[in-house]
Amino acid sequence: MKQKDIAALLDEPACEHNQKAKSGCAKPKPGATAGGCAFDGAQIALLPIVDVAHIVHGSIACAGSAWDNRGTRSTGPELFKLGMTTDLTEQDVIMGRGEKRLFHGIKQAIETYQPAAVFVYNTCVPALIGDDIGAVCKAAAERWGTPVIPVDAAGFYGTKNLGNRIAGETMVKQVCGGREPDPVPAGVEGDGFTVHNVNLIGEYNIAGELWHVLPLLDELGLRVLCTLSGDARFREVQTMHRADVNMMVCSKAMINVARQLQERYGTPWFEGSFYGVADMSQALRDFARRIDDPALGARTEALIAREEARLRAALAPWRERLAGKRALLYTGGVKSWSIVSALQDLGLTVVATGTKKSTEDDKARIRALMGEDAPMIEDGNPRALLDLYKRHDADVMIAGGRNMYTALKARIPFLDINQEREFGYAGYAGMLELARQLCVTLESPIWAAVRSAPPWALPAGAPDTAQAPAAAPSSARPTAEHEAASHA
Ligand code: SF4
Repeated sequence: MKQKDIAALLDEPACEHNQKAKSGCAKPKPGATAGGCAFDGAQIALLPIVDVAHIVHGSIACAGSAWDNRGTRSTGPELFKLGMTTDLTEQDVIMGRGEKRLFHGIKQAIETYQPAAVFVYNTCVPALIGDDIGAVCKAAAERWGTPVIPVDAAGFYGTKNLGNRIAGETMVKQVCGGREPDPVPAGVEGDGFTVHNVNLIGEYNIAGELWHVLPLLDELGLRVLCTLSGDARFREVQTMHRADVNMMVCSKAMINVARQLQERYGTPWFEGSFYGVADMSQALRDFARRIDDPALGARTEALIAREEARLRAALAPWRERLAGKRALLYTGGVKSWSIVSALQDLGLTVVATGTKKSTEDDKARIRALMGEDAPMIEDGNPRALLDLYKRHDADVMIAGGRNMYTALKARIPFLDINQEREFGYAGYAGMLELARQLCVTLESPIWAAVRSAPPWALPAGAPDTAQAPAAAPSSARPTAEHEAASHA
């Protein structure tokens, strides 16, 4: 990829960074790829396209260290879960065999798995030695009649965020517009019911949570042409240009896709979230507001009223169990406010929240929910998180998987909220799941057990308290002794 193309991607007009600094998004500093390189960002954004063969062109380490690190789920094909790499070695580099290996890799993928398409991810080594992956992909596509798409996002181009954008740009420029959507089946429309096409951009179907939302969109007559990229098919990405409206779900990572679809095809877009009752209902209203169909507006309000009433009744017993609990939230994600709102809906007090990747707009929404003095966590190092937890008298830490061991070593309840999580929290049904998981976490007898003295440390004849804890103590906070142990 040429330098001017990278500069253009960093200078994203729809991104808030552009309004703050002329230079756009931050440029990578040496060593800054520790949080994920551009290749990682591109791969993570496109891997959930389930019927594509994803080939990583590079040394084994690039594919091996980053494969399938998002808990995305599929309703059908599992091809995306198969790790494919050209596994370049020093000999290949010295002998200039990179392009040849790639060509044969594509051949093997197509002949063995008959994928809907092949995506080839460039990485540092082939980019440095000058492999022309675009030419190889073109030749392979012509030879086997299968789309072969080069995703030129070598790690040293920049950060993970840049990789997300390269992935989005590749889809818009090389895939969108390749096919028309299937016609709406006969008999579905009529009697004031019209089907409208929409896209969900930045929705990854983590733990299958999109399936909490799709039936509701279906009922409203909102046909999801494509989710970029959770549980998506290649042929769906090709039809994205025909949506009436696009929703940017939860992440700004692919904001360039929404902007470019608007510029090229005039598709309006909005940002929204499916987490929490208020945001879920707002997202449905936002669709209705942008589509000129009064019947859709009426259907939407009726559905929201029905679902909110149903959820209120279902949540009542869980809310009682969660009343008065205090949560420390550190998502690292860009829309912490969305989770804050969901937790508040359940009756928890959020004592502090992470804002490392939040925009000023996100922070304003957090203040609106938590008050002007809302504690915001910019530095999420383990010591700082545990100090905050203690200072604010929290009962549970809700954070990403990388913070799990910080919490568990300090013997405090922990709930995974990030992309590796096992449970889906989107939609109205997701709220119920979130309540259930919070209760399971907070009330687990393990906390009392791990904080009591081990049997071998008890005086002879003393009862073994670790054997019989009925429930977690009301205070689920670590002692100073436990914390010291965790940092020893
Ligand atoms: S693409 Fe480059 S920075 Fe990224 S994992 Fe591979 S070698 Fe490392």
